[in-house]
Amino acid sequence: MPTAVNEQLKILVELQKIDSEIYRLKKEAEAHPLLQKKIEEAFDKKKQSLKAVEDELRAAQLKQKEKEMDLQSKEEKVKKLQGQLFSLKTNKEYSAMEMEIKGLKADDSLLEEDILRLLDVVEEVKVKVAKEKEILAVEDKKAKEAIETIKKETAALNAQIAEWEEKRKAYPANVEPRLLTQYERILKSREGLAVVPVVHNACGGCHLGFPPQMLNEIQMQDKVIVCESCARILYWVS
Ligand SMILES: [Zn+2]
Repeated sequence: MPTAVNEQLKILVELQKIDSEIYRLKKEAEAHPLLQKKIEEAFDKKKQSLKAVEDELRAAQLKQKEKEMDLQSKEEKVKKLQGQLFSLKTNKEYSAMEMEIKGLKADDSLLEEDILRLLDVVEEVKVKVAKEKEILAVEDKKAKEAIETIKKETAALNAQIAEWEEKRKAYPANVEPRLLTQYERILKSREGLAVVPVVHNACGGCHLGFPPQMLNEIQMQDKVIVCESCARILYWVS
């Protein structure tokens, strides 16, 4: 003796409650990987500002090094010229070389000023790098905590889904296979909602209004009636 249609409808209504819950939980769980990705992307962006100041530091250090090497070679040249100074024979040669030495020394003091200025810049940028590193460490901690929370929530959702799926198991046994297949097909194609009540003489799924004759038929509950617009199975709440 097969179960009467109205009884099967009642079972489907119960099954729908469970499936709606499963659908909602799955939707929520599905959004989690995207949330995690957004957190990771935001963190990567923050890493860029550290990289920028680190590049700035490297550039300043390189410039400083170049100036120091320049200074060194000019100082060596001064020493060399000073060594030659006393071997010169004429006053003219002597004063010419003295002029050259003077010029080099003037260059040296300019270079020294540049180097000092660059040292200040390097120190300033080093402070900036340290600050960015501090900020990034805090952000890193925050991002890791947020991802950890998401993972925990995903696990909790999956556990809930498993629980509901366990509860669901008993229901399909009392529904005719053909009706069950129909139900599951609609469930898939209509966002997890296959069985809907009539609300204010209209479909509880898509709100299409029904004529009195159809309302009577739905109320009888002796056959399966679907909404002609959204194809969901209709039931009557008395
Ligand atoms: Zn409908």
